[in-house]
Amino acid sequence: MGKALMIGAGGVAGVVAHKCCQNSEVFEEICIASRTLSKCNALKEKLDGGKTKITTAQVDANHVPALIALIEKVNPDIVINVALPYQDLTIMDACLATKTDYVDTANYEPEDTAKFEYKWQWAYRDRFKEAGITALLGSGFDPGVTGVFSAYAQKHYFDEIHSIDILDANAGDHGYPFATNFNPEINIREVTANGSYFENGQFIETEPMAIKRVYDFPQIGPKDIYLLHHEEMESLAQNINGIKKIRFWMTFGQSYLTHLKVLENVGMTSIEPIEFEGKKIVPLQFLKAVLPDPASLGPRTKGKTNIGCIFQGVKDGKPRTYYVYNVCDHQECYKEVGSQAISYTTGVPAMIGAAMVMTGKWKRPGVYNIEEFDPDPFMDALNQFGLPWHEEFAPTLID
Ligand code: NDP
Repeated sequence: MGKALMIGAGGVAGVVAHKCCQNSEVFEEICIASRTLSKCNALKEKLDGGKTKITTAQVDANHVPALIALIEKVNPDIVINVALPYQDLTIMDACLATKTDYVDTANYEPEDTAKFEYKWQWAYRDRFKEAGITALLGSGFDPGVTGVFSAYAQKHYFDEIHSIDILDANAGDHGYPFATNFNPEINIREVTANGSYFENGQFIETEPMAIKRVYDFPQIGPKDIYLLHHEEMESLAQNINGIKKIRFWMTFGQSYLTHLKVLENVGMTSIEPIEFEGKKIVPLQFLKAVLPDPASLGPRTKGKTNIGCIFQGVKDGKPRTYYVYNVCDHQECYKEVGSQAISYTTGVPAMIGAAMVMTGKWKRPGVYNIEEFDPDPFMDALNQFGLPWHEEFAPTLID
């Protein structure tokens, strides 16, 4: 059917490439392009020999002219951005210049301030509409599947959703005292930022990790969960009928938190550049360099993730609750695609989102968050491509 250009060759990209190859009817060809060509070639070597034709290219995605030249050469139907959030805008600029559809998994962040907001990308709405191209924002798991779950709940089970609790549990154990499951810099920026939740039309800020509960997750058991700010709350607050409250919860073990606190206290998580031996370095970027590469965690990580949403609202005048979630096993992901579940749960929806746009199911000129499209074909594809979901109609609620 068509061709995708994927930018990035890290943990998530590895899964996207595997999944595109499993869906070769849609992805007849993929070009894997990233800063480090050898990583693209290594991925190609692993996957070559199937129906999907694979090519590779080197590109610095911070440079719009380089991206435009690459897109013109490859001539893809869509660009799948699984580089870092810092590159979202340059890649969107290049898509505009070449009239190419766009999908990503994380909202734009300026490199010098940890801000998680859609305003920069939403500012492209008119230009994408005029160019007749689609940008699908946040097609990972969270954001991503959590938005699809919300759209599905809204479409099938509720007249009004009043509250959403997004629960992200990772009960995987990689055996290291401290490591992050995806890009350490992005991960630590996220968890050291202030928390926030949405209530009655506004966002309320909290100190990092200030609000804690315990939740007994299906197939995982009881875990400490902490309230975090997370980007999908911003779009869900606008796109879900009747919404009054949205909270995002993530599990953290005590060892992770203790290490993080120490690193913070000694200044290693700072994104302010410092002078070191005549050179400017960003402490967090240095920390990333000494931490285990998330891609190396795959063979070591055992256990499961459970990510889902609990909805409360009304249907036909009666109160209703609904919990929909996916459970993913780190070792099974590793057996299938050679990576742990965090990359897997992000990469599968990135491929599905791209397929939705490429097949025309979600083709609509403009810039959209994932919950703005019909969730049904995406929900079917989750079952088909390795992220089956489960439903409960009387879940335990979080106070
Ligand atoms: P990695 O760090 O493993 O991979 C990032 C890739 O992007 C690397 O191949 C890197 O190249 C490449 N890259 C970085 N800068 C540039 C550049 N200027 N030009 C070209 N390529 C570049 O990250 P992950 O795979 O873990 O994460 C990928 C994305 O997925 C991130 O945006 C992350 O926020 C998002 N994510 C989303 C989740 C969700 O559920 N929505 C969950 C987890 C992640 P090099 O190898 O040279 O460093």
